[in-house]
Amino acid sequence: MSEPLLDQLIDLSRYLGDPTRGYAILGEGNTSVRIDAEHFWVKASGTTMGTIEASGFVKVHHPTVMAILDDPSAGDEEVTRVLKACLVDPAETKRPSVETMLHALLLAYPEIRFVGHTHPVYTNMLLCSKVAEEATAGRIFPDQIVSMGHKSVFIPYVDPGLPLAREVKRRVEAYIEAEGVLPKAIVMKNHGLIVVGDSPKAITSATDMSEKASRILVGAYSVGGPNWMTPEDVSRIYTRPDEHYRRSRIAS
Ligand SMILES: [Zn+2]
Repeated sequence: MSEPLLDQLIDLSRYLGDPTRGYAILGEGNTSVRIDAEHFWVKASGTTMGTIEASGFVKVHHPTVMAILDDPSAGDEEVTRVLKACLVDPAETKRPSVETMLHALLLAYPEIRFVGHTHPVYTNMLLCSKVAEEATAGRIFPDQIVSMGHKSVFIPYVDPGLPLAREVKRRVEAYIEAEGVLPKAIVMKNHGLIVVGDSPKAITSATDMSEKASRILVGAYSVGGPNWMTPEDVSRIYTRPDEHYRRSRIAS
């Protein structure tokens, strides 16, 4: 049976995992797509994105994964149990990615259909440096704002898995509260990049642009430091699409 969303996810994953791009090698990175209100596809643990096939993904039950995020007593054993219990096919032998909880919380926003997480070389040059937070907070040219939004969510280093998912949830909620819009890019210190969007194109564009901007920043830091765009210049470029979307939805 043809699964158009899964086909799109396979193409997206191979793009992000193409070794010539330097975004993810071996088992690095993971991707997901929401199927409906209760299910999503996510990369299976240990599979390689660059050569992934349909068998490299598992279909999981969204509410089962979400429940663990709100359970403060949940630990490693509970994570193992939930990552098995959430599998739609009881005969499935592969395990969902250890970052499945992170995908679940982001796919819970109706505007987010696809999630792409990678460890790109230039983005990680900044995220593994002494200036990680400063280097990923600002914007340096207009097209960066178009693809990545006016500001990224910054996540300090946290253990992968459930602790990281809880921290991302907290910080994304704080970002939405402060900015009034959904983020497009989330950067994790000493780890990598997450981008979210309504299409595979939104994911590849923001990931490509993060790498381009990071390459420029690595160069700019070597010649006296970046010349950041001013908040006024950033807001002239940034048109707050989510807010427009919400307004138009209310109006109709
Ligand atoms: Zn990762």
